[in-house]
Amino acid sequence: VGTELTEGRIQDAHLRFFGQELTRLGLTVTRCAHLPDDRALFRAEVDRSVAEAEVLIVTGGLGPTSDDLTREVVAEAAGVGLHYHPEVWSALEARFAGRRLAEANRRQCYAPEGFVLMANPHGTAPGFRGRIGGVHVYALPGPPRELGPMFRDEVEPCLRREISLSPVEETRGSAFHVGESNLEDALARCSRPGVAWGTRIADDRIVFHLRGGTARDREAVLTDTQALVGATHIRRGDRGAAELLFDALVEARARLIVAESCTGGLLSTWLTDIPGSSRVFDGGVVAYSNELKQAILGVPGTMLLTHGAVSKEAVLEMCRGALRLGDADYAVAISGVAGPDGGTEDKPVGTVWIAVAARTSEPTAECFLFRGSREAVRRRSASAACILAECLVTGKGWKPYVA
Ligand code: ATP
Ligand code: MG
Repeated sequence: VGTELTEGRIQDAHLRFFGQELTRLGLTVTRCAHLPDDRALFRAEVDRSVAEAEVLIVTGGLGPTSDDLTREVVAEAAGVGLHYHPEVWSALEARFAGRRLAEANRRQCYAPEGFVLMANPHGTAPGFRGRIGGVHVYALPGPPRELGPMFRDEVEPCLRREISLSPVEETRGSAFHVGESNLEDALARCSRPGVAWGTRIADDRIVFHLRGGTARDREAVLTDTQALVGATHIRRGDRGAAELLFDALVEARARLIVAESCTGGLLSTWLTDIPGSSRVFDGGVVAYSNELKQAILGVPGTMLLTHGAVSKEAVLEMCRGALRLGDADYAVAISGVAGPDGGTEDKPVGTVWIAVAARTSEPTAECFLFRGSREAVRRRSASAACILAECLVTGKGWKPYVA
């Protein structure tokens, strides 16, 4: 609830949170409504929800201001009055430690009669829970950092106690550099009776889940899909390309350095997004111009002239140059034509060379042709670089995907 949501001033983060948490618990979310701070609309929505569902969760509208309507609207819908809880006022006084409390905070001491307060250790407004008819109703504050802990500490245990839940059992996998329709065909060919699948496109991969059947059936579908498509491209679990590389480096106790051209630092960003990345990541060079490729990475100018910056020769040299910059165990280099301009007949937009090297061996390079926008080409390049490097670090060996 909140006019700031319906007027588009803030983006809803709650459905994402509740969608995941409630699905995990085995509840099906049948509806999500965003409402302005309007008494009549709010009341109509509560009435509709309690007629349709077993559980209603309301977020927001618990603050101290006159447009915070949740207490009153829920009480009205339940056909009860509001009950004053003096302990909330004492807790507010303790929290404000000497500073003057606004009389407006009084509002936060009320909850619908017969409802139970839910503590809010991260803010001033407590939540409350109770029933309207047989329907379980939970009211939580709007700020995500207040709502998350309250859900885990108060709502989840209560749901587990009061509702018989059947958590969804699923097996997850990630597909790298495989098109959505090819993955669909592969899953259809490998599926077992009773096993259903679903896919979601993420930045660097397609995440798929298998549901139904026994755990063994789902496992068999996953391994068959791996065998059909290739173990390089189908991975167990919901892990991103950078996370797979990170895991491999941690496991090998090895460090990485990168040299990026067309990805402009995206690979370094992905790696440093992972908490603890300093254990395995030395850093990266964004060498965009030919001059910088020569000056920092020592790529010979004559070679750049002969073969161009997007070439096997150039990425191999970038990779060697990156290794010379420090004492990292592994290096990755990326150079490609991200588009939309700059493509030629023999190097069309989407042509990307990626080299990987271990300090102890000669670098190797692969050429890719990625389709899509500039942004997509860059994401696919960073993702392929991660998978290539991960295969080198783990010694799995990389195989190109053939549709
Ligand atoms: P407060 O005491 O802070 O007023 P409240 O329970 O009244 O709490 P709201 O006023 O509805 O909650 O929202 C407070 C803040 O919480 C919003 O300004 C926004 O930053 C955040 N918030 C609320 N609803 C959402 C949402 N659906 N998604 C993301 N953030 C939200
Ligand atoms: Mg508010």
